Amino acid sequence: MNGVVGDIPAGSPGFDGAASRRLLARLRDVMAGSGSGQERLDKIVTLIGMEMGADVCSCYVMRAGEVLELFSTLGLNQDAVHNTRLRVGEGIVGDIAGHARPIALDNAPSHPSFAYRPETGEDPFLSLAGVPILRGGKVRGVLVIQHKDRRRYTEVEVETLQTIAMVVAELVAQGELVNPQEVASTGDPALLPARLSGTSLASGLAMGLAVIHRPQLTIRQMVSEDAESELARLNAAIATMHSAIDDLLNAAALAGLSEPKDILETYRMFAEDRGWLSRIREAIRMGLTAEGAVQQVQNDTRARMSHLTDPYIRERLLDLEDLTNRLLQHLAGRKSEADGGTLPEDIVLVARSMGPAELLDYDQRRLRGVILEEGSPSSHVCIVARALNIPVVQAPDALNRIEPLDPVIVDGDHGQAFVRPAEDIQMAFAEAVALRARKEQMYEAIRAQPSVTRDGVPISIQLNCGLLIDLPHLKASGAEGIGLYRTEIPFMVRSTYPDVHAQTDLYSRILDQTDDKPVVFRTLDVGGDKMLPYIAASEGEENPALGWRAIRIGLDHPSLLRQQLRALLRASAGRPLSVMFPMIAEVAEFDAARRLLDLEIARLEGQGGEPPSRVRVGTMIEVPALLWQLPALLPRVDFLSVGSNDLTQYIFASDRGNPRTSGRYDPLSPAMMSLLRRLVEACGDANVPVSICGEMAGRPLDAMALIGIGFRTLSMSPPSVGPVKTMLRSLDVAALRQYMNGLYLRGDHSLRDKLRSFAKDHGVLI
Ligand code: PEP
Ligand code: MG
Repeated sequence: MNGVVGDIPAGSPGFDGAASRRLLARLRDVMAGSGSGQERLDKIVTLIGMEMGADVCSCYVMRAGEVLELFSTLGLNQDAVHNTRLRVGEGIVGDIAGHARPIALDNAPSHPSFAYRPETGEDPFLSLAGVPILRGGKVRGVLVIQHKDRRRYTEVEVETLQTIAMVVAELVAQGELVNPQEVASTGDPALLPARLSGTSLASGLAMGLAVIHRPQLTIRQMVSEDAESELARLNAAIATMHSAIDDLLNAAALAGLSEPKDILETYRMFAEDRGWLSRIREAIRMGLTAEGAVQQVQNDTRARMSHLTDPYIRERLLDLEDLTNRLLQHLAGRKSEADGGTLPEDIVLVARSMGPAELLDYDQRRLRGVILEEGSPSSHVCIVARALNIPVVQAPDALNRIEPLDPVIVDGDHGQAFVRPAEDIQMAFAEAVALRARKEQMYEAIRAQPSVTRDGVPISIQLNCGLLIDLPHLKASGAEGIGLYRTEIPFMVRSTYPDVHAQTDLYSRILDQTDDKPVVFRTLDVGGDKMLPYIAASEGEENPALGWRAIRIGLDHPSLLRQQLRALLRASAGRPLSVMFPMIAEVAEFDAARRLLDLEIARLEGQGGEPPSRVRVGTMIEVPALLWQLPALLPRVDFLSVGSNDLTQYIFASDRGNPRTSGRYDPLSPAMMSLLRRLVEACGDANVPVSICGEMAGRPLDAMALIGIGFRTLSMSPPSVGPVKTMLRSLDVAALRQYMNGLYLRGDHSLRDKLRSFAKDHGVLI
């Protein structure tokens, strides 16, 4: 890129790879040196400016409410520091943050996003190169250099800035960068409003006062004087703990919560585990108090299991910690925080981690949201929280940053929390809640309305489900059926493999509750990120997403798949059954899976059992190879369903679970759009129904594009039904189809902006 184009010189003379390495080495010294976060940032900014020969170097840091604040500058007016603020999307700096992409301009004032801020005194600077400061897939700020004259920046310069931005991201993440004016007005940096950015574990919005859940008790006496009396204390505490768990079980049953009930039953099993109890009794006999013995067994278990990384086992370890803490509470005769009569009306729980039973300890009528330092979407506590419609955010360091009774907003939709939110954030929250409520009302109003586009094209809306607790949504949402039942989810919350009898019972309950609406059961899709403790799958695999998962496990362990198919056939006696296989990569795999189903049908008939009234068999389209086998596949299947989550990850070779890559490519890209169109056309020619059940089907703009391509069946999670139905009822498909004809062959990264403009111009409610 070096050289001269017209009369614009390229780069700073002499800033080559060696200069870049020198700068980075000096930067490392600054980071390792002493000084506050602000002092180190000032040194970094000065260093960049000097070494890169820039007239200006500035660092903007993302603050609460998506505002970028100028935190340090060399070359701009120093009075602007901590005073100049830009919204994301405002000005070139806001544009860099908004798109999370570097920009290098030889004539910044002519850029459409240029915003002039007189307080910075920046008008004489013509060239600008800026990069986003990224951490954990999120924009934390922007780093910018500017030159007075016009120049083209070189790749080395932009890449150096990107590397430095990674270092600055660490400073930002350490929470050391604070606005001194705000510190002066509150007196304590710990009391400033703060935005904790993390991961969404359960969606929704909530506001309340922080209740810090700290289950640990300090044990005063470890060594006992009388083993017999300690054993008696232990037995009494176990008895009260059992009855307390039974009470929780009954309460869960009364509330109609079948999934928490299942989980609590697993709990009771743990609590009755003879191995666990006998090890505690043994420790008492060795001379420890009951509390000391419980603690010691817990420490041993932790030490034995600490090296295990399997997420399922780690979650079970958390369950056991929960149980240990409960037992200690009962031994101390102490009630947990949850029983405190002094708890606020609106509770936001903050905890390092917690078990599902601990969550259920709190009064459900007061519990608004949860912030955890540790947790994953498949942890039991999150499954229960989702069932109770409570948002959960995972945010590292939450316990250090939140004080008891701090006002907190939990934004489970965006994986963030606002602590001691400023008034503008509180107002924005109140508006978001009101908007949500208004939208809910609107969705409720169209529930019984037909799912038909403005120009009369019927669209079938189906649900993606995985828990019994999801089923009431089928009626409430007005969806036509269940387009994807993920059978692995009930398997994931159990500690042993459910036998045919247990599976038959579960599938019958699902069919009983769906009032004859169609249900597509997908056979076990485990492996990858969905591990079961009783199937030693992808342990040690370098690429679990490309590894031994889903149908591959089913075909390698035919008895596992056959048991599931047997249970599905039995549960569907006299009723229609639709079975779908996940991750099929070749027709031969489909044939092999289908053969196992035929064997089970023959077995059922041989035993005189009642077969389903009709069996439909289909496959997910997740592996791209299948798209090149359609002539052989289509005559064999009764239906297809596109799993766009996996299909996108495989088409773009871009891990869906990795925050650095998951959003890198857009399913609304020319590549995905044209391959989906070819698929829909091929299915139309072969008269094979095709639906789509990946997450994109539930996002209104994406769903609009899918309808434009030709999909007529969309399967989505229950909260998406209202927004998607609202969109499609305002859509003119014929106009969209014609518009999209001009898009498929384009070379853009994404067609999202174009489709959004279409929606805006044609009054489509997205
Ligand atoms: C998909 O891949 O799009 C899909 C629906 O399956 P899952 O998200 O369960 O992998
Ligand atoms: Mg999938």
